[in-house]
Amino acid sequence: MEKTLSIIKPDATTRNITGKVNAMIEDAGLRIVAQKLICLTTAQAEKFYQEHKDKAFFTNLVDFMTSAPVIVQVLAGENAVSLYRKIMGATNPAVAEEGTIRKTFALSIDKNTVHGSDSPESAKREIGFFFSETEICE
Ligand code: ADP
Ligand code: MG
Repeated sequence: MEKTLSIIKPDATTRNITGKVNAMIEDAGLRIVAQKLICLTTAQAEKFYQEHKDKAFFTNLVDFMTSAPVIVQVLAGENAVSLYRKIMGATNPAVAEEGTIRKTFALSIDKNTVHGSDSPESAKREIGFFFSETEICE
């Protein structure tokens, strides 16, 4: 079983649609093995998105991710990393496939409802960023 880190973003928590997002995750066969609602600090968001620190959208991204609560969660399943990327859909909802979370719920390329790890290596690092081993129930 592989694990991946998911974040349900502020545009979803503020619209009260986190249950609908979780339903799509569970319908795809992924198990939620850890989950908590938190308010990211600016320092946490900047550290989490380190890889994007030189991008034009970085400040906007950090501001958005700290604008309201997020739900951080660990998803487990066969090929969880790539399966979750598939059901999330493309970063830009305008080009995301029908039936994906982002096509269904995202408002724009920045307010795009969910984050998912992009590789097993990223998943390991990102899960460790938010969860201790005892918080994950497999
Ligand atoms: P993904 O979340 O699909 O892995 P990236 O890792 O490339 O996408 O980007 C991280 C996040 O930064 C995106 O989910 C989105 O919220 C934001 N973002 C990416 N590209 C842009 C952009 N061109 N304009 C505004 N926000 C962006
Ligand atoms: Mg990414």
